[in-house]
Formats: sequence, structure tokens, C-alpha cells
Amino acid sequence: MASKKFFTKELLQWNKYDNDRVMPWKYEKDPFKIWISEIILQQTRVSQGLEYYNRFIKRFPTVKTIAIAPEHEVFKLWEGLGYYTRCKNIIESAKYISEELNGNFPKTYEDILKLKGIGSYTASAIASFAYKLPYAVLDGNVFRVLSRYFGIKIPIDNLQGKMFYTKLAKDLLDKKNPGIYNQSIMDFGATICKPLPLCEICPLNSRCVAYLHDMQLELPVKEKIIVRKSRWLYYLVVKYNNKFYVRKREEKDIWQNLYEFILLEAAKPNTIKKLQASEKFNSIFKSNEYKIESTSQLYTQQLTHQTINGQFINITVKASLELHNYQLTAMDKIKQLPFPKFITTYLKD
Ligand code: SF4
Repeated sequence: MASKKFFTKELLQWNKYDNDRVMPWKYEKDPFKIWISEIILQQTRVSQGLEYYNRFIKRFPTVKTIAIAPEHEVFKLWEGLGYYTRCKNIIESAKYISEELNGNFPKTYEDILKLKGIGSYTASAIASFAYKLPYAVLDGNVFRVLSRYFGIKIPIDNLQGKMFYTKLAKDLLDKKNPGIYNQSIMDFGATICKPLPLCEICPLNSRCVAYLHDMQLELPVKEKIIVRKSRWLYYLVVKYNNKFYVRKREEKDIWQNLYEFILLEAAKPNTIKKLQASEKFNSIFKSNEYKIESTSQLYTQQLTHQTINGQFINITVKASLELHNYQLTAMDKIKQLPFPKFITTYLKD
């Protein structure tokens, strides 16, 4: 049956013989590179993250290169990855390390934790990989592996669950090789004990409680149900003199610091006719003549707490519009600016 001693031993054994992993950040010792790879991998699949990581590190090989780069260039390389606050935090932390710490990456768990956007998981990963410090990682993958192997039914998203799993993860950590242990459990959760687990080939299956009781898919248990809010975004892609009106999203909302076309937001779906009759639409065009050239298909994107729906309406005008915050921008310049995936998908279509 499941035991802490066997878990760690079997996991490390699996890691030793599993050579089928070629990710560039494996066994990396540079805290900067570990930091970037971990932040990219939050909410991103490894296959997708790998490409971004390689491009990012090639353009920004050190903390300083990020700190001195124009922000839109950093965001451009992040474009499509989503969760743009992660990118904003990287820029802020890079500036802090460069200016306040003389370019030296912090070396203790507590100091790493002080960096913007770094939580206990990333701090543990950096501290254990780069400095061999005994901190156990705990994220969605680890929760899943532990809850299944030990058959734990305590919800992972309440305080009791968090405390329980934190202690268990700490107990299981190989204190002599914390980096290797952490890497192993992360990889194991990502490649074997996946949401749809590969139990038949899993080297830990003879002691796994979930497998022995056929309850792999019921674990881990979550208490809260995510309720997604629906938003309807109608983008007016207005062309004047071969240029388009775009602006940077500054407000505290999704896609902060990314660019967009003229936005009309609604709480429910609208017909184009209804939009044209709305006050907001008329305040944009006032008495200017405009022509709707075409309308796009409906686009949908799922974010963690929101469902984004919307359409793009191509419009031409003969006279310029008086719009606060929007700039007339040529298409070749638009291609260099960072846009949310919702818009780049449309642009690619
Ligand atoms: S047997 Fe299945 S559920 Fe258990 S640890 Fe292995 S992959 Fe996960």
C-alpha cells in the first residue's frame, strides 16, 4: 500500500530511467532561466511553452536585457501565451533585480519570494534547482499526483487541504536532492499522472491507492466550482487613410498593456444593427460618414473566469475620427505590437 518512503524512492527511480525528456530547462542551474521557464509554464502546456521559452531566452538572455528593453517588445514575445500579468511582473522584477540588487538574482527562498509574481511554488522551484535548498514544490500537478497515490479526499482548494498537502509534500521531499526530487514529481505529473493518467505503464501503480480502487478520475477533490462570466466584445476595425485606430489597454482588466481596436463591449450578444443604433457607436462616428465593409465570424475564447465572445466589424471612414487614446496605426506597425490572442487569431484569419 501507499507509503511515503516508497513514493519518494519509486519516483526518483522513475526519474533516473526516464531519459525521454529534452526540455532545455532540465537540470538548469541559472536562477534567471529557471524563473522564466517556470513563469511561462504556469497555465501553459509544455509543448507550447517550449517554443516561447526558446524565443524569449534567445532575445533576453539575462535579467538586464529585459530590464532595459522597451516594454512592448517583451510583451510582443509573450503574445499568445495569455495571463499577461505574468509578463508585466517579469518586467517589474527584472528592473528591481537590475536596479536594486545590482543585477544579482536573490539567493534565499525568502528573497526570491519577494519578487513580484513569484509565489511559493516558483520560489521553491528556483531555490531547489539553482541552490539545492530544501523546498518542496506544490502545484496542480503535485496535488494530483499526491491525492491519487495516497488516496486523499481532502479538497485541495481550502485552507485545511492546503496545509495538509504542504506538510505531506515537505515530508516526501528528498532533502539531499531537492532539485531532482522536485523536477521528478513535476515531470511525473506532466507526463504520467496526467489529468487522464497513464496508469497501465505507471511504475508507481502497485501502491497507488487511486489505481487500486479505480478512483483516479475522482481525484483530486475540489470544493469550489468556477463560475465563468460571459463578455461580448465587438471590435470596430476602422480604416482611415490605410491606417487603423488602435490603443493600449491600460485599465486593470484582462489584457492589460496589450493593444486593441475600437471596442464596444456588451453584456449580451448584439446584432450589428443594434450596435449601430447604440449611443456608444454613435459617439464614435458622430456625424462622420462610415461604411461597414464586412463582419467577421463569431470568435470565442475561454479564460479562467471569463468566456470572451465577439466579432470584428471592418469599417472605412473618409474623415478622421476624434477619439481619445486611440492612434492611427499602419498594418506593418500593428504587426509589431502585442495584441491578445483573441485579436491575433482574427488577424491571422
Ligand atoms: S497509477 Fe495512475 S493514478 Fe496512480 S500515480 Fe500512477 S498514473 Fe497516477
